[in-house]
Amino acid sequence: MQEGLLSTYQRSISTRGVLAWAISAVLFTFYLLLYLPGSSYTPNFPDVLSPIASALHLPSKWFLYGALYSLGMLVGGWFMLKKHGNSRYHRIRTYTVVGVQIGLAFSLPLVLNVLGRPEYYFSYVWPLSIDKLYPDSLAKMPAYAAIYFVVTSLVAFPLLAYYKGKRFYCSWICGCGGLAETFGDPWRHLSNKSEKAWKIEQITVHSVLVLALVTTGLMVAKAAGAAQDGTIHTLAQGTSTFYGFFIGAIFSGVLGVGLYPVMGTRVWCRFGCPMAAMLGLFQKFGRFRITVKKDMCISCGNCSTYCEMGIDVRQYAMANLDIKRASCVGCGMCAHVCPRGVLKLETRSDVGPGEAVGVWTLDL
Ligand code: SF4
Ligand code: SF4
Ligand code: SF4
Repeated sequence: MQEGLLSTYQRSISTRGVLAWAISAVLFTFYLLLYLPGSSYTPNFPDVLSPIASALHLPSKWFLYGALYSLGMLVGGWFMLKKHGNSRYHRIRTYTVVGVQIGLAFSLPLVLNVLGRPEYYFSYVWPLSIDKLYPDSLAKMPAYAAIYFVVTSLVAFPLLAYYKGKRFYCSWICGCGGLAETFGDPWRHLSNKSEKAWKIEQITVHSVLVLALVTTGLMVAKAAGAAQDGTIHTLAQGTSTFYGFFIGAIFSGVLGVGLYPVMGTRVWCRFGCPMAAMLGLFQKFGRFRITVKKDMCISCGNCSTYCEMGIDVRQYAMANLDIKRASCVGCGMCAHVCPRGVLKLETRSDVGPGEAVGVWTLDL
């Protein structure tokens, strides 16, 4: 077992103390200052971040955000590895997710901007980045980018989720997951593990997926000639604006990160992310699972405590049941904190126990 678990409960920052609430307030304020100015719902909200970005010679406030985000992941990743870096799985995935953020989600768009080209964020695909499949957006992209986003969103990533589990994206590529796994590590244990929270999560996350599908469908209908139909046009515009502000900005940004210090790091991933809902369906019927060594669990509860997605892992381990949950992001922390080596993340076809372990399994 890695060092430092008990220290989690001795720090005000990790136990909803004053410091935690203060950080939450700072995060809320920052995200409101980021998203409210210029929004059609709050057009007169003062923009204080753009002048700061200009003073730092950055092209826009979004690059200031990207720089702070990357810095948060870098520093958070360093602290995370001090605590959990004795695991090869955590070392490799932390280097990868931080590298993807700095390389694909910050440096590449900055270079493209400096070269006067449109910026593309290749690590974010539909439906997480919903406008990637809007016909208007695809039409403006060069062919290689349009093909990349269509193929990854609709074919490659769902297939990977089926064969390898959604961890390939949620714990290795996605910047939202990356921030949770690094900067958010001091708060990962705060997720609600109750049955009620699980029921709410299933309703909300799938509702957002349906809303994402409807919004995208309306945008396709608008582009496919229904534009002459004033009702479709108005509905498509209104729905996409609503989605962009209330789901994309308020839910995933303001609430998703602002609530880290008091409700854990995966509020958005768990209750709102349409990509989580979509990939979760492929994972649920796919090959990824957490296997349980029979009759080894001592019911210490470490696994459930440290599951950021609120999965009560201990219940499965006590019942000698392998875990196949759509919401599991494959972070591997449950297996890492288990003092008895009971849990293992594996990809295997549905054959007998111990058979056909997938090639992409990394020992924990
Ligand atoms: S659940 Fe959604 S936001 Fe969270 S890591 Fe996965 S894709 Fe990213
Ligand atoms: S069940 Fe384990 S691997 Fe899955 S999200 Fe929870 S802690 Fe991470
Ligand atoms: S599976 Fe491991 S960490 Fe979880 S309750 Fe059992 S012994 Fe503890």
